[in-house]
Amino acid sequence: MEVVANKKPYGKRLRIDNSQAIRLGVQTAFLILNLWIGAQFLLFVRAYEQGLTPSVSRPPGVEGYLPIAGLMNLKYWLLTGDIPLMHPAAMFLIAAFLVISVLFRKAFCGWLCPVGTLSEYLWKAGRSMFRRNCSLPRWLDVGLRSLKYVLLGLFLYAVGSMGSIAIRAFLESPYGVVADVKMLNFFRYLSVTSAVVIAVLMFASIFVRNFWCRYLCPYGALMGLASLLSPLRIRRVPDKCIDCAKCAKACPSGLKVDVLIQIRSAECLGCMECVAVCPAEGALHMSLPRNHRVAPWAVACGLAAVFFGFVGYARLSGHWDSPVSPEVYRTLIPQAREFEHP
Ligand code: SF4
Ligand code: SF4
Repeated sequence: MEVVANKKPYGKRLRIDNSQAIRLGVQTAFLILNLWIGAQFLLFVRAYEQGLTPSVSRPPGVEGYLPIAGLMNLKYWLLTGDIPLMHPAAMFLIAAFLVISVLFRKAFCGWLCPVGTLSEYLWKAGRSMFRRNCSLPRWLDVGLRSLKYVLLGLFLYAVGSMGSIAIRAFLESPYGVVADVKMLNFFRYLSVTSAVVIAVLMFASIFVRNFWCRYLCPYGALMGLASLLSPLRIRRVPDKCIDCAKCAKACPSGLKVDVLIQIRSAECLGCMECVAVCPAEGALHMSLPRNHRVAPWAVACGLAAVFFGFVGYARLSGHWDSPVSPEVYRTLIPQAREFEHP
């Protein structure tokens, strides 16, 4: 009888991975932070709408939802060397997320973004219900993926065509001062068209993994381009790989992890779902150049260090809050719905 020593069955899990538990913890913490910011901002806005004095202060973190203002302010800072007065938090937040992308690939999308988190749980719910998600034909997938870059190009063109004086005039105009209130009002008073579009996107996200993020999100497109500079990447060790293709099947970005040696794609979320499902010890990992492995807890700590580093610097240096007086908010917030783009 022939005996094969040390031969382990293919496809059986040989290792324990905690990357997804750590990532879920980070995603949940960031989602709770965003819900808290949203609730506080809503209380702040409603108080002024009702002619009352708010019992809470305005949370500057809400400016994370003003990416265009963040880009404008980043350009203003690059042109003048001055930190802008209005919505400086938007600039610090987009800068923090760009640095995160350069260091940790598109981990903003895969670990932090609340929309990415909701999107992920929609497709996972779809997979639980229907036992699978849909994959679009490659020609359609590639074509749709380019849409987010087209949208990003339009935004970059709009911001790129503004000089520092125009940026300042825009952000300090009544419209610019309450741009965050207008964003909130967009979701509070959804038009029928917007509600239908959001419903369609959510429905599509149940079937197609990360539909919004993959095809339409210009913010994710920007983070993806920044991530091309990242030294961190998923690496496969062919000698240890047992060619089971579980990694490729698990990858929410549809990357061919099972045949590539390194994943350099701008679509890689750094989510480590591929690493989590790989059954072969040492076959797949997140690493720096020269194969220095990076553990999931190190990614989580790195994300926290960059995020709190930027926020902490902005707060300590007095550049976190927009210097808008209660009198100005009392005048502008009740009228915010009427303001048109200047
Ligand atoms: S290659 Fe791995 S880390 Fe990158 S998106 Fe796919 S599953 Fe996530
Ligand atoms: S790297 Fe991918 S194909 Fe290779 S063993 Fe791991 S999951 Fe299977």
